[in-house]
Amino acid sequence: MKESLIVIGNGMAGMKALEELLMRVPDKYDVTVFGDEPHVNYNRIMLSPVLAGEKSFEDIIINDRKWYEDNNVTLYTSEKIIGIRRSEKIVVSEKGRELRYDVLWLATGSKPILLPLPGNDLPGVLTFRDMGDVDQMLAASKKYRDAVVIGGGLLGLEAAHGLNLNGMNVTILHKADWLMERQLDESAGYLLKSELEERGMTIYTGADTKSILGGERVESVRLVDGTEIEADLVVMAVGIYPNTELAQRAELECGRGIKVNDMLQTSDPSIYAIGECAEHRGVTYGLVSPLYEMGRVLAANMSGGENKYKGSVTFTKLKVSGVDVFSAGSIEEGPEVEDLVFRDARKGRYKRLVISEGRLAGAVLYGDVDDGPWYFQLIKDRNRIDDIREHIIFGQSLAVGADSTDPLAAVSALSEDAEICGCNGVCKGEIINSIKKNGLTSVDDVRSYTKASASCGSCTGLVRQILKLTLGDSFEAPESTPMCGCTDYSHEDVRHLILLKELKVIPQVMQELEWKTPNGCSKCRPALNFYLLCAFPGEYVDDNQSRFINERVHANIQKDGTYSVVPRMWGGLTTAKQLRAIADVVEKFEIPTVKITGGQRIDMLGVKKEDLPAVWKDLNDAGMVSEHAYGKALRTVKTCVGSEWCRFGTQASMSMGIDLEKLTWGSWMPHKFKMAVSGCPRNCAEATIKDFGIVAVDSGWEIYVGGNGGMKVRASDFLCKAETKEEVEEYCQAFIQLYREEAHYLERTAPWIERVGLRHITDQIVNDKDKRERLAGKFRFSQQFVQKDPWSERASGGVDIHEYSALAKIG
Ligand SMILES: Cc1cc2nc3c(=O)[nH]c(=O)nc-3n(C[C@H](O)[C@H](O)[C@H](O)COP(=O)(O)OP(=O)(O)OC[C@H]3O[C@@H](n4cnc5c(N)ncnc54)[C@H](O)[C@@H]3O)c2cc1C
Ligand code: SF4
Repeated sequence: MKESLIVIGNGMAGMKALEELLMRVPDKYDVTVFGDEPHVNYNRIMLSPVLAGEKSFEDIIINDRKWYEDNNVTLYTSEKIIGIRRSEKIVVSEKGRELRYDVLWLATGSKPILLPLPGNDLPGVLTFRDMGDVDQMLAASKKYRDAVVIGGGLLGLEAAHGLNLNGMNVTILHKADWLMERQLDESAGYLLKSELEERGMTIYTGADTKSILGGERVESVRLVDGTEIEADLVVMAVGIYPNTELAQRAELECGRGIKVNDMLQTSDPSIYAIGECAEHRGVTYGLVSPLYEMGRVLAANMSGGENKYKGSVTFTKLKVSGVDVFSAGSIEEGPEVEDLVFRDARKGRYKRLVISEGRLAGAVLYGDVDDGPWYFQLIKDRNRIDDIREHIIFGQSLAVGADSTDPLAAVSALSEDAEICGCNGVCKGEIINSIKKNGLTSVDDVRSYTKASASCGSCTGLVRQILKLTLGDSFEAPESTPMCGCTDYSHEDVRHLILLKELKVIPQVMQELEWKTPNGCSKCRPALNFYLLCAFPGEYVDDNQSRFINERVHANIQKDGTYSVVPRMWGGLTTAKQLRAIADVVEKFEIPTVKITGGQRIDMLGVKKEDLPAVWKDLNDAGMVSEHAYGKALRTVKTCVGSEWCRFGTQASMSMGIDLEKLTWGSWMPHKFKMAVSGCPRNCAEATIKDFGIVAVDSGWEIYVGGNGGMKVRASDFLCKAETKEEVEEYCQAFIQLYREEAHYLERTAPWIERVGLRHITDQIVNDKDKRERLAGKFRFSQQFVQKDPWSERASGGVDIHEYSALAKIG
């Protein structure tokens, strides 16, 4: 008969250890898992992106029900274990279930600290630990306005960021003198505070909370100095304590956590403890990577090994999109330690390395965290750094003398056990082995086999580099996929050669690049047409015959062969005159359907092809132009009513939207391009699922890029903050131009950013002012040639008018 293993706690540590065990000995134990949450095992660290609206709960599930079934694991959710009868080896659940174990794992995690303040039990006072808390915060953000987060550590800041993105006015109260004081030094804490304040959050440091006030619900928070801050929601994120409740009741030896030896065994040899509830050599942990190490040791031992857990060094990353913070090891100042500091105020970068006894003891990175894994490895290895001391502050490629032009030098110098994915505890060696063993060729493959980069995604670049390093030349294959069957050249090659050889018309491109077909195909012709338009604005003459039908006729063909016509309504605004003209056109041409679009425009559906020029003429006469609703071009700029009308509005979103649309309309792009402007973080214009979205905050505008609301929804990435309208316009122009110059034809901004990485975009548009200005200038230059209404040109009979003639009726 199989031995029975019971796991109490269906969280990250317990299930990681179980995964490792099942991988080694799938049939050795009869496994039963108890979890008191209603869910299957999910990635707790990703609760912050769920709160921020960047992920859904489904995205963060680690093991779904099928996984438990496939592995013959019996799972009881919403069932708390309330007692362990050790003499009989029986656990007892709150539902009265009693089960016998041969081996018992305690993986009960931690509990959040609720400060013993008057009013801490008022409705609206929450902690941030599980999915239930996130659900409550999201519900509150829909109904209420003011949130106070007590605690400016990792969790508090992630909660504050999420609530801010959900449109709440957020105030952070932090008792220490700077944010994340346990991980950051004062300088990095200052940079972080400025960044969060720029995003519209109010931060009090040195703030001692005295009480929480309210009646039926929380109403405010009072500080010891008498300051009172309005609050409809209070989130306490002031720390955690190991959940030893059950162990204590069962009289297992406990200190701060449940005491375990190097085999992770408690004072009862049949019972093991792992995760945040365990105390090993006097230390308890609050991050996942040590818990994963514990899981591996426990699983190895239970499948016949004799491994020892020796403790872990940890590092921290903040999951606030657009804020790069890394901290590892000991960062305390003192007479025994030396500091190396590097600052780049213009780019908002800061690095501090702490050296103790000739070894790297700690690192704090703000703004540029690429070298984080390397510093972390040096801290873990504890080797002397005398040889590289002089250059260590400049990062791995300079310090180890590697070829700084070789992008793989840094990753190749990492040791096999260097941790690449902190969220899922995956090291470099594991990724390499999996690539070799399973024949993996893409980041997606690596993700599904090893889980590396499957969570917060910040290690995607490193994973891609490891793939390149392992596969060598064969990794290049997918990147140089030919544009189509007419050529062996990739999109990048073709664009590069067009510029290099100054190829200015399609036949010349085909001739010089040895096209295999005489006239190209429906894939390469539209792409070449766009690449040439982009490369030689004002010089290249658009080739209408290389365009898809909708772009040729400037209207969207419908399933019955009729067309839809959408006039531009700048920023989503209209007038009585425009509405009257639309009504007249609808009646005159007997247009069967009139519909409001998702982008705040009016769509007339069912227009006969031969009526198109006359319909356009009437619309032109009323001052309306084409909306390009059919084109790979700027579509709509959606706006909310903003401070012009809305009582919550902090900036004038309507006029910003109108101005942006007037600036950018007419521009041809690799794919359709949508924008939106919201007047406050409530984000009624849904700006964070647009290609370029702007959300107003008290001190200016937050700019987001790469969002997509289509079949595969993608929340946009935070690009940067801008204070003035002129700055927003420059960022917008530069971003569009970079997209036009670098994306493949028919590639939306979302996959483009995922392919090249957000850092590549930020480096050129945010960090490099000259490049930004150059890009914006090129965009403005090209706009002068395209801001011509295609309808008026065709309505007047000037261009390709035969396209719109009815076919002769035969018979
Ligand atoms: C919002 C948030 C963000 C975080 N971000 C990061 C990060 O970026 N990086 C990082 O490394 N770490 C992060 N952490 C910490 C990380 O999530 C924890 O270290 C990790 O989840 C701990 O795993 P665990 O299994 O010990 O505990 P848990 O994941 O909490 O699992 C314990 C489970 O046991 C259940 N349980 C407890 N008692 C019983 C009982 N008697 N009967 C049945 N079930 C019981 C609990 O309900 C819980 O489901 C974050 C945590 C939070 C809350
Ligand atoms: S309409 Fe605009 S300003 Fe008003 S709440 Fe919505 S996003 Fe904010």
